[in-house]
Amino acid sequence: MNKFYFNVLQRSRSFIERISYRTYGISAEDLEKIKKFKEEKEKISNDPNRSAKILKDEFSRYKKGVFRPPEPKVPKYSEYVVIGGGIMGSSIAYAMKNRAPDSFEVMVIERDPKYTRSSSALSVGGIRQQFSLEENVKLSLYSADFLRNVKQHLSVLDDDPPDIQFQPQGYLFLATEAGVDQMIKSHKIQRELGAKIELLKPVHLKQKFPWLNVDGIELGSYGFENEGWFDPWALLSAFKKKACSLGATYVNGEVIGFEFENHSQVRGEEALPLLQANYLYLKDELGDIHCVEFGYLVIAAGPFSAEIARLLHIGEGSGLLKVPIPVEPRKRYVYVISCEDGPGIDMPLVIDPSGAYARREGLGGKYICGRSPAPHEEPDVSNLEVDYNFFDNSVWPPLCHRIPAFNSIKVSSAWAGYYDYNTFDQNVIFGPHPYYNNVFFATGFSGHGIQMAPAIGRSMMELLIDKCYVTIDLQRFHLNRIFHDTPLHEQNIV
Ligand SMILES: Cc1cc2nc3c(=O)[nH]c(=O)nc-3n(C[C@H](O)[C@H](O)[C@H](O)COP(=O)(O)OP(=O)(O)OC[C@H]3O[C@@H](n4cnc5c(N)ncnc54)[C@H](O)[C@@H]3O)c2cc1C
Repeated sequence: MNKFYFNVLQRSRSFIERISYRTYGISAEDLEKIKKFKEEKEKISNDPNRSAKILKDEFSRYKKGVFRPPEPKVPKYSEYVVIGGGIMGSSIAYAMKNRAPDSFEVMVIERDPKYTRSSSALSVGGIRQQFSLEENVKLSLYSADFLRNVKQHLSVLDDDPPDIQFQPQGYLFLATEAGVDQMIKSHKIQRELGAKIELLKPVHLKQKFPWLNVDGIELGSYGFENEGWFDPWALLSAFKKKACSLGATYVNGEVIGFEFENHSQVRGEEALPLLQANYLYLKDELGDIHCVEFGYLVIAAGPFSAEIARLLHIGEGSGLLKVPIPVEPRKRYVYVISCEDGPGIDMPLVIDPSGAYARREGLGGKYICGRSPAPHEEPDVSNLEVDYNFFDNSVWPPLCHRIPAFNSIKVSSAWAGYYDYNTFDQNVIFGPHPYYNNVFFATGFSGHGIQMAPAIGRSMMELLIDKCYVTIDLQRFHLNRIFHDTPLHEQNIV
């Protein structure tokens, strides 16, 4: 075969490979758009009159006195691209830009700029250090300190400082006999790390919280400092605003696919396929396709992170690409109830041994409550409709038993949101993917993500810039544990 035909064959093969790779997880319509986009691009770059057209374009701008070309709607390149502009993506963008505002570009791609379905906007906003794993306690302690100084960290010149409405009322976990050993074990870890948590026997619980029914309770664990709740929307907005003020670019669009370079290596008889991803396709709000080149990619797409991973063949290939990211959306309901004679202002966020929880909401006799469904009760996740029967059957009965004042309530409203649920061990999946040297994850928080966001942003910044952990070592949260099938369970999941 002569050299010319060999080259043609090679080129067409790599083209077919790229196209077939791209078809994973993309709708036929979007694939057609990507193909058209590519054809258009090729037509432009092969146009023999291209140079003349560019000169004409520049000349006409100079004639009009416009010396800078218009900013493209979607930048064509960014050293760091973050997929997902929720609390994680925004905290990461902030931490990166805060470290070095002028040294690199950070682009955040968000498909739902009003955050109507984002977990961050639909969260309950609780923060606690009552975890069973050291790393989670440390992440939450770091975040508590950050939130304490949030005005200093996230204020933007000429704007009101952020007001995240932190309510320092604490968390109260309750344990029956079955849960006492674990509670004591976790408490030891928490105290050693500096968390302000006290264990209370039923008699002391009753003294401190007279509205509580302690029947069947053996021990309570109460966080009296750095625990409570805040307004998640205010924190998300503050991170985003600050990140933008430091130079991060937010782009409105949905990531729908990637372009791959095939760097296959031949070793002896064996051919080792190696894909490199440095280009993504995004669809803007008008349906137009854009291609963005990136150096590093951070996937912080919350409950939908595994979908993005699939676009990178993660979980659909072989070898290191075989293992999927075990994160999926799980619907969780939050009910707002009115109770005139409820526990009142000093009520902490109470978690009954059944898993049902409640806390005060504002100062007008309102409370919010909920409970994670049992595995056999997991609702359909195709929509965010609320099931009020779940309240009647699974939330209200245990709460009335624990807080008798809740016998007399009215449900005033409710909403549902998605947990970014890690089905493997209910813990964050953090750090690099072992196959791609430029793809990183921050996902799978399973209901405790909003409080971790400040620390997660910092940790990702350290990993990307310092190439190691400086503040909190999160290596145990890397994907390796999933590849080696060694789960790292967090016991305190609400
Ligand atoms: C009801 C409820 C109560 C909760 N309570 C608490 C609590 O009390 N304390 C706590 O710590 N945590 C709580 N959480 C969990 C917490 O809210 C989440 O862990 C956290 O918000 C996750 O943030 P995120 O940025 O990863 O995800 P998200 O906020 O979901 O952000 C991800 C973003 O990615 C975008 N995206 C997805 N796919 C694409 C794509 N292809 N292209 C572009 N953009 C894309 C989405 O639009 C979304 O905005 C709760 C969650 C829920 C639902």
